[in-house]
Amino acid sequence: MSKKIFILPLLFSLFISVSCANTEKEQLLASVLETLNLPSEKLILANKEQFLADMDTVLAADKDYLLTLVDKQHYLSKDYVPEDLVPLVKNNHYAINRNDLSLRVPVEKALCIMSDAAANDGITILVSSTFRSYDYQSKLYARNVKQLGQVAADRESAKPGASQHQLGTAIDFGSITDDFVETKQGKWLAKNAMKYGFSLSFPEGYEDVTGYRYECWHYRYIGIEACKMQQKWFGNIQQYMLEFLYAWDKASNAQ
Ligand SMILES: [Zn+2]
Repeated sequence: MSKKIFILPLLFSLFISVSCANTEKEQLLASVLETLNLPSEKLILANKEQFLADMDTVLAADKDYLLTLVDKQHYLSKDYVPEDLVPLVKNNHYAINRNDLSLRVPVEKALCIMSDAAANDGITILVSSTFRSYDYQSKLYARNVKQLGQVAADRESAKPGASQHQLGTAIDFGSITDDFVETKQGKWLAKNAMKYGFSLSFPEGYEDVTGYRYECWHYRYIGIEACKMQQKWFGNIQQYMLEFLYAWDKASNAQ
């Protein structure tokens, strides 16, 4: 008997099961989007297949778990400390503002690559603040509340557990002041950081979405593929993408 007789039904059933899985995923996508309030919802719904394929690429590339949602509603535990922190020491790639800085290994590697690219354009990258422990953030937040008052402090300082800095993947560059955006370094980062996987966490005009006022100096490393996804599907707003991925993960695991 010809083998074809067996292979054809096999291929057909494989096709059916793959397309069923795709339909299921598309339905899940639509239901997750319904729970969120994304400005790009229509764009995603009109291109579900492409969106899901891009998301698979991002999740497969995220070997270092760089996409955790941490914000005013989603806290890290008091004892969370990344396992792969490395201290930042004087080096030929970037400058450091103090001697107690540390970052996760993949972030420091990406920082070196980005800083070398900036150096080629005549810019020195200055790293001013990096990983902060829960306890350190507690003290910093208390100090900010004391100096600025509760309302102003909450616009730019995270409560302990709610800071991206506890992830060991966020960096404050340069002066950590509003005029950083006007400096050569600030301009270079605004234009190029995403090419190297660094995303501006709190962009201008999105305080009601991110919970924080514009911070032109604060970038979070999420990886190059995730930066592309942020740009293509989420209006270049990190918060929208991380909220989506959080909801997607929850809905997928509930199934
Ligand atoms: Zn910061």
